[in-house]
Amino acid sequence: MTKHDLLEFSFSELENFCLNKNLPKFRASQIWRWIYCFGLKSFEEMNNISKSSREFLNNISLISRPQISEMQTSSDGTIKWLIKLNDNSEVETVYIPQDDRGTVCLSSQVGCTLSCSFCHTGTQALVRNLKSSEIIGQLMIVMDHLNDWPSGKNNRKVTNIVMMGMGEPLLNYDQVSKAIKIIMSDDGIAISRRKITLSTSGIIPNIEKAGIELGVNLAISLHAVNDKLRNKLVPINKKYNLEKLINACKHYPKLSNSRRITWEYVMLKDINDTSEDAINLIKLITDIPSKINLIPFNPWPGSLFETSTQRNIDNFAKILMGAGFASPIRKPRGQDIYAACGQLKSNSEKIKKSQINKLVPIHNF
Ligand code: SAH
Ligand code: SF4
Repeated sequence: MTKHDLLEFSFSELENFCLNKNLPKFRASQIWRWIYCFGLKSFEEMNNISKSSREFLNNISLISRPQISEMQTSSDGTIKWLIKLNDNSEVETVYIPQDDRGTVCLSSQVGCTLSCSFCHTGTQALVRNLKSSEIIGQLMIVMDHLNDWPSGKNNRKVTNIVMMGMGEPLLNYDQVSKAIKIIMSDDGIAISRRKITLSTSGIIPNIEKAGIELGVNLAISLHAVNDKLRNKLVPINKKYNLEKLINACKHYPKLSNSRRITWEYVMLKDINDTSEDAINLIKLITDIPSKINLIPFNPWPGSLFETSTQRNIDNFAKILMGAGFASPIRKPRGQDIYAACGQLKSNSEKIKKSQINKLVPIHNF
């Protein structure tokens, strides 16, 4: 008999599981707390459950963790895990410590079908959706490693979650939303929706759904301010164009000065980094509570682009700030272990150090 993986259950599914196995309903609350407050991986230490029930649970179920293929620590403290799933496919997970927070970047898919032209993940051949247990499993591995249990302790190391790893989270909505609800559960990991950010290239129907059902922070991978260029950089724009995207963002629930949309804008030399682009960006988002995250392009072997010059990035940021927008320039983290945005890809196709500077010229793009 295959054992049921308890990480696959929402709380109500766990309750039903207990009832179906003739266990009292309150067992579900006990098990849930042991798994998500205390990080237990086995039933042995669940000391408020009788020995016979623990043995029974152990015979019919398990509390999974994905395998770790590799773990690397950057000189700046960033940690990256290459995580092996049951079918041997792999995803990456990153932990980024900062002064006042610790952020975990989770993957939502193996690879990505959307093929944005500057993104390494988008060139990966194999793509599949992750199950919610595989999304949660990534976070559990990070918390295990950092000794961040119980979740109710002071000075937690993991305080923030960003869905910015491999994959497009809104193309795997059901599993991503299930995982996020588990992460937010007060009786468990209890990270609030204000500390969770979902990044999307603009899958409009699910933006609205996420706003209503999850209420997490929204980050939009914008990268271009007209359809002609965005069609090339972010091809899903052909289906969901800028006008529709901006409209969906305007209606994202409960936007305010303390709850703004983050616009991610990758700085690509001679492609999208002029003063005119900055001015058009301001016009595009002018009515929306916004902050803009300028991301210096992270090159990978064979990529078609180069990073904008520091001068152009600073100039771009200055124009945005002049119009009253917070526009931090994202510091590349974990560069020495290729953990930076857009560099995540599975082991089989990893970047070799010797390849990193062999960029294809950008002519004719
Ligand atoms: N699929 C989602 C989330 C994952 S990508 C999305 O596209 O939003 C996380 C962020 O990294 C996105 O803003 C993406 O556009 C950006 N990114 C991808 N490749 C990059 C690269 N090579 N350099 C810098 N940022 C990159
Ligand atoms: Fe997919 Fe996001 Fe990469 Fe585009 S930027 S290919 S949507 S992971």
